[in-house]
Amino acid sequence: MTITTVGLDADDTLWHNETIFRLTQARFLDLLGDHDNALIEARLAEVERRNLRLYGYGIKGFTLSMIETAMELCEGEPPPGVLREILAAGREMIAHPVETLPGVDEALHRLSEQYRLVLVTKGDLLDQERKLAASGLGDLFAAVEIVSEKDRGTYDRVFARHGTGAQEAVMAGNSVKSDVIPAIEAGAFAVHIPYHVTWAHEIAEPPVDHPRFGLLDSITHLPAWIAERAQA
Ligand SMILES: [Mg+2]
Repeated sequence: MTITTVGLDADDTLWHNETIFRLTQARFLDLLGDHDNALIEARLAEVERRNLRLYGYGIKGFTLSMIETAMELCEGEPPPGVLREILAAGREMIAHPVETLPGVDEALHRLSEQYRLVLVTKGDLLDQERKLAASGLGDLFAAVEIVSEKDRGTYDRVFARHGTGAQEAVMAGNSVKSDVIPAIEAGAFAVHIPYHVTWAHEIAEPPVDHPRFGLLDSITHLPAWIAERAQA
């Protein structure tokens, strides 16, 4: 089996991300302390779902969704300071230091010696570019694709443009819904590397019986997993 190209997700695959969202969400619950936490969380999730189509993925959309949720819960009049605090929380997320996950640096160096590496991520363009630069991993990638959605067509296009087609590519990431299922639909191998928390909108059932599916507990094992398939 020829494998030429490895696609990698960014958030929660190469560096911590969801934990930063969870911390901000906890702060948001505190801000609206007069309301029940479960109610705030449910309302925020609903507003986020509605807004994904409008704002896409990322911190800016999340910040707007927090503002909108606060407006709804406080009948259009959030207490003084709440909006200011939400905006500050959003800015702090954008300024948060990038912390790569264990083993990422070594795994990517090894993979980049043999394969074309392509970063495939959703999120805000500026924010993802900032995180990639801060991670020090930028030079290892042959290409970076910041996309508005990850579906079968995305992987068809990305692996045709930057590699030799999806059939000869592997996609690895923490989201079954975004990194695994559509990559397998496009004909690629796909490896799920779970992160310890998953955003509600990314939860899906993994295709455990598919011959091109793999599950790894760490990116450290990815080079060996790919080498086995390449030799088969
Ligand atoms: Mg991810």
